[in-house]
Amino acid sequence: MKDILSAEGTIVDAHGQRRGWVIAEDGLVSEIGYGDCPVEPDVTGFIVRDVVNMHTHCADYGLDVPPGLSLEELVAPPDGLKHRYLRSASRTDLMGNMGRFAAASSGRGSETFVDFREGGAEGCRMLREACPDAVILGRPTSPEFDPDEIDEILSVADGIGISSESDMDHRYIESVADEVRDRRMVFAIHVSERVREDIDFVLSLDPAFVVHMCEATDDDIAKCAEAEVPIVVCPTSNRYFGREPPVARAQALGADLALGTDNGMLCEPDMFSEAAVFAEAASSQGGDPSDCIRALTRVSCKILNRSKANARATGPGPVTILPSPDGDEQGAVMRGDRIRLNIRRF
Ligand SMILES: [Zn+2]
Repeated sequence: MKDILSAEGTIVDAHGQRRGWVIAEDGLVSEIGYGDCPVEPDVTGFIVRDVVNMHTHCADYGLDVPPGLSLEELVAPPDGLKHRYLRSASRTDLMGNMGRFAAASSGRGSETFVDFREGGAEGCRMLREACPDAVILGRPTSPEFDPDEIDEILSVADGIGISSESDMDHRYIESVADEVRDRRMVFAIHVSERVREDIDFVLSLDPAFVVHMCEATDDDIAKCAEAEVPIVVCPTSNRYFGREPPVARAQALGADLALGTDNGMLCEPDMFSEAAVFAEAASSQGGDPSDCIRALTRVSCKILNRSKANARATGPGPVTILPSPDGDEQGAVMRGDRIRLNIRRF
């Protein structure tokens, strides 16, 4: 006997939200469609797919983090704990971390993840080998701009992810951004995570998105909204370091928000838990918690749409049902009940 499950409600995916349904056999999606469910549904709620984790660092998944370290001591290049670990760990260990991270990510309902890959071209090759479906944003390691290095990275990666404008020479960053833009690939950068950084310079690079913006001013956030540059927030990671993701401020100022789980050593790549923290942060800041559903899928797919990386985010991937008989988005995310289905690869 097959275990059959049917669900009806709102399908949330890259295209937005529409009424729809899904039928699964033994945990595998057998049919999915829009409109009314052809059978009496077992569950009603949100049927979420195309979930993209927009900001990760997967190679430090499994690194034990001693409590009480500051953001700088833990992740600042070149000598934060994470970077010392990445330099000393073997290729086998790092690829093992990446493989386990990718399995955890898809097991928890993400289609793919966008990794800010440390370690230059070799770091990108490791991840491409460990997880062919990852969206990889490599990071150059040479002390000065080297077009050959960028060429090598971009032959494997989907773009470049820079640590921050204050870590590197501006002319170097500009040259990198030019190379990425010329190839219509993804350029992204961490901004104002620990201290406020120069948003005018960052926006002059035409990034596909920026990450964090915790210490940004309202004016900085308004400039992102004006330039239509989405902000990827990482509420769990930010709160670990005693910072606040600018959820309500971005909503009030009209900037698009997407979500990422950040460093693998700090939390699991679980986008639905991240969405619950996002909703809670939005509520406590006086913002709109129901935006968490849109941040899970729509905005990230829009960001990747401009690039070749899009193909990795629109293949068949896992489907998660958030049961909610009353159609309450925030409640469905916050309750944490989930039914995970895998889609059959036809
Ligand atoms: Zn990061």
